[in-house]
Amino acid sequence: MERSRVLVVGGTGYLGRRIVRASLDYGHPTYVLHRREIGVDIDKIQMLMSFKKQGAHLVEGSFTDHRILVDAVKQVDVVICAISGVHIRSHQILLQLKLVDAIKEAGNIKRFLPSEFGTDPARMGHAIAPGRVTFDDKMVVRKAIEDAGIPFTYVSANCFAGYFVGGLCQPGHIIPSRDSVCLLGDGNVKAIFVEEDDIAVYTIKTIDDPRTLNKTLYIRPPENILSQKEVVEAWEELIGKELSKSSTSEEDFLTNIKGQDYASQVALGHYYHVLYEGCLTNFEIGDEGEEASQLYPEVVYTRVKDYLKQYV
Ligand code: NDP
Repeated sequence: MERSRVLVVGGTGYLGRRIVRASLDYGHPTYVLHRREIGVDIDKIQMLMSFKKQGAHLVEGSFTDHRILVDAVKQVDVVICAISGVHIRSHQILLQLKLVDAIKEAGNIKRFLPSEFGTDPARMGHAIAPGRVTFDDKMVVRKAIEDAGIPFTYVSANCFAGYFVGGLCQPGHIIPSRDSVCLLGDGNVKAIFVEEDDIAVYTIKTIDDPRTLNKTLYIRPPENILSQKEVVEAWEELIGKELSKSSTSEEDFLTNIKGQDYASQVALGHYYHVLYEGCLTNFEIGDEGEEASQLYPEVVYTRVKDYLKQYV
């Protein structure tokens, strides 16, 4: 089967760069939109040059230039957007409305994957403020896509391993301690952890798959559906030592959110829903979705216990 041509928007980002690499690895003619505003960010320029060396086509574009966006979109079959959406870095989810306009006008796109890659926003109508802005904005983009009749797949990637596993599920930590850990509540609520390169691979696997057309792809690798306590136990086994444990009650966690800066409040709200409420695992996937590790059993995903080995 001929592989779709893919345009990656946000290809210089934390997740986006992995999507570019996976797209190239799986033999898709791969286009990377880079923006003029990149200026003198030498790291990003060198990243783009490395993509070019691997065979990617670099396309200069800008969210402020509709014509150029339309022309970029016309060169490909599939658009994957991984624009920023984490307040502690940057949050530009609604910029995608301009991309949706361009895709609508171009009229040739077989599949659009907007920047989602987290908790399913359709299930987060009850989320607490201000963290709910992430889900609300992603829903605005979904509505624009669906109103425009653009074929889509939404990827619900659950917890990025780098943030959640690295920090033993503690907000503000991304390297595991060898001494202590603070459990969120009793630490027994199940979450789902996915290594970022695996997210990119599942994303690329799905773009030409009719089974995920106009559906949500949930990434739920079975061995990575774990509680915080189980993640901590995996780490303790690797370092051969038990950590000293404290715990934060749900009530204290919620009270503590209020005194934080805006970006931290957003992040803490997400941790709250994942690790106290269990929002990633408290539902069954229905007709509107498919599960990635079932659709693509050939993908050898990274187990949490193996992911943690890099920190030993
Ligand atoms: P990044 O912060 O790494 O940014 C990605 C891209 O956004 C960059 O390529 C950047 O382009 C682009 N960008 C930023 N500002 C603008 C702008 N004004 N105009 C055009 N492009 C811009 O994103 P992440 O990889 O952290 O996030 C990608 C997605 O993954 C988001 O939807 C986010 O919510 C989700 N996510 C999920 C997590 C989870 O645990 N489930 C964790 C983290 C993210 P440039 O290089 O040109 O600046």
